[in-house]
Amino acid sequence: MTSSQVQTPEEEYAAKRPRSAAMWERAQGLLAAGVSHTNRRTYPFPSYYERAAGARKWDVDGNEYVDYNLASGSLVLGHANPVVTERLHARLDLGTPMMCHETELDWAALVQELIPAAERVRFVVSGTEATKLAMRTARAFTGRPKVARFEGHFHGWHDYVLHGYRQPFEQPVSDGVLADVTGTVLPIPLAQGLEGAARMLERGDVALLILEPTGPTWGTVPFDAAFLQGLRDLCDQHGTLLMFDEVITGFRVSPGGAQAERGVVPDLTSLGKALTGGLPGGALVGRADVMDLFRPGREGPYVFHFSTFSGHPLTATAGVATLEQLRDGAAHAVAGGYAEQLRGGINDLIAQLGLRGFAYGEASMFHVYLESPDVARDGQITIDDVSPYDLLAMSPLICERLAFQLRLRGVDLVAFNGGFTSSAHREGELDQTLSAFEGALTALRDGGVVATAG
Ligand code: PMP
Repeated sequence: MTSSQVQTPEEEYAAKRPRSAAMWERAQGLLAAGVSHTNRRTYPFPSYYERAAGARKWDVDGNEYVDYNLASGSLVLGHANPVVTERLHARLDLGTPMMCHETELDWAALVQELIPAAERVRFVVSGTEATKLAMRTARAFTGRPKVARFEGHFHGWHDYVLHGYRQPFEQPVSDGVLADVTGTVLPIPLAQGLEGAARMLERGDVALLILEPTGPTWGTVPFDAAFLQGLRDLCDQHGTLLMFDEVITGFRVSPGGAQAERGVVPDLTSLGKALTGGLPGGALVGRADVMDLFRPGREGPYVFHFSTFSGHPLTATAGVATLEQLRDGAAHAVAGGYAEQLRGGINDLIAQLGLRGFAYGEASMFHVYLESPDVARDGQITIDDVSPYDLLAMSPLICERLAFQLRLRGVDLVAFNGGFTSSAHREGELDQTLSAFEGALTALRDGGVVATAG
């Protein structure tokens, strides 16, 4: 290549991924929109991954990545944890699935031991199923029709949770959702906090208040323990069930999730991701009297739940192998310590490069907020300068290009603006990641994609 033929970053990306490019082409005629999850439509086309181990993964063209996606935050122990893998191999030879089995009891016992709210456990097949089942259960238990949620929190993809997620909050993020359904779930304005929740619960017809306990979209807008305690008190006062959606934070923020770390126990909790050690699954857990509604023939309300793959033996096996390794908190200390160093290193780079933004997050989660050049603001900013709505609505272009520039340099984030660390991330990954961030942030600055402090 001569200097007159300078490659664009997109050309460089494509040149290093001929097999992924061909697979993306092939996917067009096979998968709806080319993918199995809309967030996997990454710019300019996805890398196709072949294998993963610990904190790293490799694509079909042999490119190596430090992974902060970790199956959308599922793998607190990193990829292909040897204990999980070995037990799965052994389990496969025994045949699967086969109705009731002992591993689901061992799995539920670990959940009960670790998650304060988990007096009883009902396994489901995804986090989405857990939040959907919770809404039905709460309506049945209380005899009330409505569910309250906070703007910006993510609770999966079923019809009841698609409005209130992104602006304009009154509109579902999907077509095809009936207004009758939308009318049963009431978003609380994020900026109104406890006062908004109080006003909502005073209506007297709210069965369930659901939220992500560290703040919307795994802490994009951080919440503190006092806020959660305030919600606990309000729910007690008004007879509303309190539910923490801990699909991400469960077993990640601490072995007992955000509820153990914050010391606030909800009535119901949804779990997924880390619960399953990376296989498909989830759980709705909660108070024994509420969960008793699943018992057929009981007096009073009853909740129907039939599901072919609930408590699947392979998922249960991976779940037990994972939770056994997470229960003493040692993995959290490693993953959290690493994330703290990473957030600090990214903040140093943002300051050095003169950008307006910051890295933040708690435990083994991190977010990177960068401001667009078209925002009218001068100088350095901290999280206190930015409204909850700005944090939630970080420029999609910046998110897309940051992820692209990092992938080009061998680092993979989750969609939106951050990622997750694991107990398999080490010093070598940190150095590599920070040098990738330096290159990526410089490219975004020089390309005029992000604002400079001026
Ligand atoms: N709740 C939260 C907080 C989540 O982050 C997710 C998934 N990212 C879900 C629910 C839905 O879980 P699933 O993708 O397993 O349906």
